[in-house]
Parts: sequence; structure tokens; C-alpha cells
Amino acid sequence: METAPVHLLSSKLRSMSESATIKMAQKARELKAQGVDVISLSLGEPDFDTPDFIKTAAKEALDNGFTKYTPVPGHLELREAICRKFDRDNNLNFKPSQIVVSNGAKQSIANLCLALLDPGDEVIIFTPYWVSYFDIVKFAGGTPVALKAGIDQDFKVTADQLAEAINDKTKIVLFSSPCNPTGSVYLESELKAISEVIQSKQDLFVISDEIYEHINFTGAHSSIGSLPGMSDRTITVNGFSKGYSMTGWRLGYIGAPEWIAKACAKVQGQFTSGATSFGQMAGIIALEQGYESSREMKTAYLRRKEMMVELLREIDGFSVNDPQGAFYIFPNVSACFGRSNGHRIISSVEDFSDIMLTEAHVAMVAGNAFGNDQCVRISYAAADDTLKEAVRRIKNTLENYK
Ligand code: PMP
Ligand code: GLU
Repeated sequence: METAPVHLLSSKLRSMSESATIKMAQKARELKAQGVDVISLSLGEPDFDTPDFIKTAAKEALDNGFTKYTPVPGHLELREAICRKFDRDNNLNFKPSQIVVSNGAKQSIANLCLALLDPGDEVIIFTPYWVSYFDIVKFAGGTPVALKAGIDQDFKVTADQLAEAINDKTKIVLFSSPCNPTGSVYLESELKAISEVIQSKQDLFVISDEIYEHINFTGAHSSIGSLPGMSDRTITVNGFSKGYSMTGWRLGYIGAPEWIAKACAKVQGQFTSGATSFGQMAGIIALEQGYESSREMKTAYLRRKEMMVELLREIDGFSVNDPQGAFYIFPNVSACFGRSNGHRIISSVEDFSDIMLTEAHVAMVAGNAFGNDQCVRISYAAADDTLKEAVRRIKNTLENYK
């Protein structure tokens, strides 16, 4: 086979890791294509279809001629609907000029990093973090700094830890709540303490990724941007992928100080232009009429979460906390390290997830992709029976490892 001239790729690209979530999902798909009965709990994607009323809105938009380029920051009607949503759900007050709609929240985060970071600028990332944050920051020229929280503190970084970590170079604090990969949710009191630390440094901003807002079991979602003194310092990221099960639509957005929104629109104007026309029209309907369908999905996730916590806690070697949102569980499996079946030894989370894929035929993602080398991420966005079967397989396989 011809050898690829990899040295011709940019050094930036060569130092970028491939998305571990996408890589694992691809591996699982390949095994499935070979006829292996793999249960994939690797990709963070709702198992529900997009609700029909949202699909209908997109079809109508197509029929009504929404087939052209859109304004780079998004159709005004959608940006107005996003302002109403922020006001209604998050106590955040934005004008349409502060909103930028993008091809997914992933692009929103990339726009922000490209717009704000210079070499030498540091971004404190609450760890465990969502897989792409680290590489987006690096690619944009910034320096990611992992601020770690283990299972003993419910994977949540404290205000004191943040105060310790901030230095002159810190420009952005980046985290998700509800969190991917841990499911942890920062309570308002915790965010308040964090916001006070952020305000103690000039020109320090927070990117608050709230894409799992609608999958929150605590009963209340808190937005750090709504806390006193935070509106000029916070960029709130959100999107349609999770709450409305619209992953393939590629639609996300930010609410930000106007100068940051303008900068993001400038980046987007050169890279991709405005998000898909008819998808934006469906987005308006999702925001205005999607409450009930989001609530139904949340109820299903909560039931599955409770089932999974109970089942996984029965497995010898698993340490499982009780996640309060999103659709992930992040068990600590380090007690399994050193165990062997006579042929293979589990010496890391990567070994663990590889053994689970090849022997149990259950795909999950090793925690090192999220900055944690003791845990694995299991997505429970799957049917109850599938989840039960997955746990049965994990348990059976582990019984061979002593
Ligand atoms: N942030 C987090 C925490 C996520 O889990 C995801 C899911 N991929 C995204 C952002 C990006 O979402 P999307 O690009 O599909 O809007
Ligand atoms: N956010 C999802 C995940 O964490 C989707 C995959 C991705 O965009 O990386 O699995």
C-alpha cells in the first residue's frame, strides 16, 4: 500500500487527536458491518428520532423557498426566538445582535476559540471534559489547562480549585453543565462561587456549554451568565442536538457580548457562512413548541439512568456515582487494573474499553479522551433492553478476569 506523505500535513493537524467518540463509534460500526452483534454505547447521541412536528416545519420551510444562503449569524426570526428562549429558560437577556447560529455547538466553540485565543493564552478546562474542547483550543493556538475533579467530588471542580489555577495567562474557563462525559450538574450555589472567582480577574471569560440543559434531573438548570456581574464575561453555548434529538441537523448557537458575537460571525463568514436554511426554520418551532417532547425524552433518560446506576453498581470493580444530567455514566474501573484472563491483562482504561469491545461486544469510550485515566464513558441513550444486555455482557466478560 502507498505510504501517505504525512509530513506534508500541517504540524497543527499532526498534533491534533482524532475525536475519540467518533473513532469508537466508527469502530463499532465496522464490527457491526462484519456481522458482529455490537452494542454501541459510545457515541453521545439520543436514540430518539427528531419529533415529527420539527421535521414538518423543515419540510414546509423547503416548500416555502428557504433554500438560499442565510445571514451569517442566522435568520433574524431564529435569533429572535433564541432571545426569547434565553429569557424564558435561563434568565439571560440578549438582543438578536448577540446571537450567532452555527452548524452545531461544536462549530460555536471553534468560532469562539478562533476569535479569542492568541498563542500563550490559556484556557482552563474543567476535567473530565468533553473530548473536543482540548483539541479545538490547541488548534486555535491556545493552551488547554486541565483542571481535574475525580469521582470523590462528583467530578465537579470547586471555586477554590479554580482560584488556585488561574494565572495571568488565563483567558477562558470552559466547561459543560450538565457535563459530558460525567453527567454532573453544577448547582447555582456552586456556579455562584465560581463566578466570583472569575470576576476576580480582569478580562477572564467563561464559555458555558449548556447543550444538555434539557436533560437535567435536578429540577432546575442554572446558567452562570445569569448570575450577578457575569453577563459581560459569559458566552452561553447551546444547540438542538441533544434536547430535541437533532444531531444530524447541525444546529447550535451562542449568546454573547455583542463584540464577541460579531467576531464569531466574522470567523464563520470566512469558513462556512450561515447554517442550513430550512433547519433554522425548524429550529424556531423546536424552541417554541419542543418543551413536551424534550420532557418525555428526559423522563426516559432518567429511568434508564436509575436502572444503569443500580446495575453497574453490582459489578465488582466498578465505582459509580449518581449523575444528575445528560445521558452518560462515568464509572471508575481502576479497581479492575491488573486483572487478567490468562491471556490479556487490563492495565489501563484503554485496555478495558478494548476488551469490552472485542470480548463483550459493547462499545464505550476510554476516559483518557476526556482527561481521566480511571473511568470509561457509557452512554445510556439506548433502549432499556439493550442497556440490560450490555451490562450482562460486561459483567460476564469481567468474570473471566481475576
Ligand atoms: N458540547 C458538548 C458537551 C457535547 O456533548 C456536544 C455533542 N457532540 C457538543 C457540544 C456539540 O454538539 P453539536 O455540534 O451536535 O451541536
Ligand atoms: N458529543 C457527542 C459525544 O460526545 C457526539 C460525538 C462528537 O461530536 O464528538 O459522543
